[in-house]
Amino acid sequence: MYMKISNKFELSPKQLLIVWYAVAFIAISVIAYFAYLIGTLQQKNLLLQEDLRLLQIGQAETAKKLSDTIAIIDKNLNLTKSEQEELRGKLAQEQERVAAQQRHLDEVAGTVGTLEKLTYTDEELLQKYSKVFFLNEHFIPANLSKIPAGLVHSSKNDIQIHSTVLKYLENMLRDNNDPDFDLQVISAYRSFDTQQNLKNQYTVTYGAGTANQFSADQGYSEHQLGTTVDFTTIRTGTDLSAFEETSDYQWLTQNAHRYGFTLSYPEGNDYYISEPWHWRFVGVALATKLYNEGKHFYDLEQREIDQFLVNIFD
Ligand SMILES: [Zn+2]
Repeated sequence: MYMKISNKFELSPKQLLIVWYAVAFIAISVIAYFAYLIGTLQQKNLLLQEDLRLLQIGQAETAKKLSDTIAIIDKNLNLTKSEQEELRGKLAQEQERVAAQQRHLDEVAGTVGTLEKLTYTDEELLQKYSKVFFLNEHFIPANLSKIPAGLVHSSKNDIQIHSTVLKYLENMLRDNNDPDFDLQVISAYRSFDTQQNLKNQYTVTYGAGTANQFSADQGYSEHQLGTTVDFTTIRTGTDLSAFEETSDYQWLTQNAHRYGFTLSYPEGNDYYISEPWHWRFVGVALATKLYNEGKHFYDLEQREIDQFLVNIFD
């Protein structure tokens, strides 16, 4: 029996068997190769899966380590924060302690300053002196200065005043730029002896009664303090009785307190006849209080006045 493959080839059964074997061999070889290939790939896949698993484990470990580290850092940060807060608290306490010490020191310094001021401030400067209240005849101000010639009446050439009061007086006389303003000092510090001589002179001229009432005794104690000034103007000169009518006097009544001066003996006072020309330095605070309240120095109790002594030159 012949198997017809084509018109040209005709194989014998033996040849056909060989072909079959060959085909079977090739087929088995191909199948074996693919089987091998599949096996290799599966193995590689397994290896890769293993690698992946290991990688995942590694990742998880790394992530855990990282999170542990972050937790440690957080903890440290929190510790640092609480430490910082503690330090801040301590610092605030320390600052408060230092501030309290400073306040205490300031208080002590203030007390010392006040005591020092009072020690160096003559308490006589704010005492009431008149026919009723007497000043020791030996009292002499600690420091006296000559009033500049331009500020005193031409008939006088050597008028002295308490050295510290001088600048208040100068400011007062120089601050007014009104061309009609011609206020001048005609008398300021007078020693006990000078006063007595003056009194004798007045007594001789006017008789004891008139002299006592007019000028010999009146306010002499205040002039002995060195803080008291008698004013006049160029126009009224030595005629003190005309002073009250001047615009300068009106200006003094409205402005002298700003420089610490006050009118000692106003009209109707219980101590002397009215002396519009006679102004005493009592410090800006007290003079301003008197001005604001419409009062005069001798209206106040001595103990009320005394409270102003420490600040008399402020
Ligand atoms: Zn006077």
